[in-house]
Amino acid sequence: MDTAAHRMVGVKYECLLFDMDDTLYPLSSGLNLACRKNIIDYMLEHLHIEESEVPKMCLDLYKEYGTTMAGLKVIGHEFDNDEFHAYAHGRLPYEKLKHDPVLRNLLLSMPQRKIIFTNADRAHAVKVLNRLGLEDCFEGIICFETLNPAKEIDHMDECYSSHSQILCKPSVEAFEAAIRIANVDPKKTIFFDDSVRNVASGKAAGLHTVIVGHSDLVPGADHALNSIHNIKEALPEIWEIEESNPQKMIQPPSEAMVLA
Ligand SMILES: [Mg+2]
Repeated sequence: MDTAAHRMVGVKYECLLFDMDDTLYPLSSGLNLACRKNIIDYMLEHLHIEESEVPKMCLDLYKEYGTTMAGLKVIGHEFDNDEFHAYAHGRLPYEKLKHDPVLRNLLLSMPQRKIIFTNADRAHAVKVLNRLGLEDCFEGIICFETLNPAKEIDHMDECYSSHSQILCKPSVEAFEAAIRIANVDPKKTIFFDDSVRNVASGKAAGLHTVIVGHSDLVPGADHALNSIHNIKEALPEIWEIEESNPQKMIQPPSEAMVLA
């Protein structure tokens, strides 16, 4: 048993699953807005979608398919996933994200396993965690590439069709895959996300749920946090030790999870 597993003995929850964007840093940082603009520009410049249609299409696809990217694939646009991610994230104002020693100390003091679960690609996740000074606070990152591994297929047609269905939040299947990959018991896992629909799906997948960036509860949320910084006041049970000591061996994650 490793050190982390030793620390787990007797705690009520075994794992904390965190969304990253707009959850570990505030929406007000401006990254979200800049990312949306980049996606719109990509749709205009690379997919040559009519300018007047782009804003509504962008939103409709996001609502229907989880991400605009996933929706674009479903309606038949063919593009390289890595190229899309590089465009959407390549020019983001990462300098607006600063080291967050308060959050870092909170995370390091939590005895649970901590894992990122994001729809973003790995390069973006690593960049954000580095900017926040949290790169060593998580056991692993479940990201776009984890749920949508590149398939080695010779024929381009097959390659594109194999990518037409992207697995991402808020589909419950994405949550079930993340739970399986992280090898966690959802009943002993708390999921944090700023998205109302992701929280609802997390609840449907059996997780304890926290809506972040909201002062009021939303459907499917067990807790609401205005800021991730308020976590100790809202969820002191993360740090509580149970009286009955199960001496349970914690299962390691499966190899599919990208390690941070
Ligand atoms: Mg988010």
